[in-house]
Amino acid sequence: MNEIILLKLGELVLKGLNRHTFEEKLMSNARRRLPAYGRFKVYTKQSITYVEPLEPECDMDGAFEAMKKIFGAVGVCRCRVCEKDKDKMLSAVREFLAPQLEAAKTFKVECKRSDKTFPLNSIQLAQYLGGELDELYPHLTADMHHPDLTVYVEVRDDAAFVHGNTEPGAGGLPVGMGGRAVSLLSGGIDSPVASWMMAKRGVALEMVHFFSYPYTSEEAKQKVLELARLLTPWTGRLVVHVVPFTAIQEELRRSCPEELFTILMRRFMMRISAQVAHRVGAEALITGESLGQVASQTMEAMHCTGAVTDLPIFRPVVGMDKEEIVRISRRINTFETSILPYEDCCTVFTPKHPKLKPTLKQCREAEAKLDIEGLVNAAVDGIERVRIGWGDD
Ligand code: ATP
Ligand code: MG
Repeated sequence: MNEIILLKLGELVLKGLNRHTFEEKLMSNARRRLPAYGRFKVYTKQSITYVEPLEPECDMDGAFEAMKKIFGAVGVCRCRVCEKDKDKMLSAVREFLAPQLEAAKTFKVECKRSDKTFPLNSIQLAQYLGGELDELYPHLTADMHHPDLTVYVEVRDDAAFVHGNTEPGAGGLPVGMGGRAVSLLSGGIDSPVASWMMAKRGVALEMVHFFSYPYTSEEAKQKVLELARLLTPWTGRLVVHVVPFTAIQEELRRSCPEELFTILMRRFMMRISAQVAHRVGAEALITGESLGQVASQTMEAMHCTGAVTDLPIFRPVVGMDKEEIVRISRRINTFETSILPYEDCCTVFTPKHPKLKPTLKQCREAEAKLDIEGLVNAAVDGIERVRIGWGDD
């Protein structure tokens, strides 16, 4: 083994929460992502999680990319392991960080000596390495305050570690620390972003998709499953509960005022999602609603949809502009799939003039003649559970 990946854990978070649980969760999430890239050992010491390859065939590039998507780590870096000898360390720096040394204009060396028997102390070692690098690379100038490149050298009991700048990690909290929630996943741009944002806060997700076959096509369903698959590098494996929704939509169209169609449909979505939550032990619902974006996302409409369940409803993009949501969706790689032009169940029976300010009373009156329980139960009984493996499975 001459290379290892380091994950730096979010320090601030560790103060407030149970540090041990945090570390265990992060390590088990990391371990589950790694088999696709070979055999690795994962352990944590002093707020750093080490991902150590156990065989030469390990795909370090793949593992590194995967570790950048583990919530709970604020920084990730690749690190060269070498002998505890100052000249071996210098060669390791020159070899391992060659491209960074070429590209940088300014640099500094930071050393940490945990092995107190090593003959040079941290400052002496940094001075030695810094001096040598300064001579070997004439284009580099030392800068102790804002260097382009910081060369880190750590002398530990068993070996020395060499690495360059740390790349940003995914941040947030390890998935599973923040409970479990049901996320309503449509084929749009917003709901994958909302799901990702809650997973970032440590929430384990269970996905629900409402499918209106034959009004919406098999391709539309595949698109949603693909969106779920694109989220798995961050969320871990997912189950998508595909709910047959056609019967409810047809019943609403038949017996309710057209202007309330969308809001009543949303109320059914919430009721069914709450049932799914109950079944899987989830404690909240998540939607991609953004205030004022469409008629069904006014404050009054949200009041009406939320009133059918006492579960908390998280709407992490509620205060975001479309542009901000799009920016995240590009970053997490769901955008291109979200904009594929397949119809969604909501677009199938869109009223011409939806009510912008529906009241609970109007909703309840319109629903009075419906067999709500029967419709909900039939939909829940018809659920198809689709398991989605890792992004790389
Ligand atoms: P999105 O981009 O997420 O589709 P949108 O702007 O199209 O959002 P709506 O269609 O009004 O908004 O849906 C609002 C929210 O309701 C969605 O973000 C999603 O959480 C949920 N939702 C809508 N349609 C479905 C569906 N077919 N299956 C599951 N959830 C849905
Ligand atoms: Mg939508």
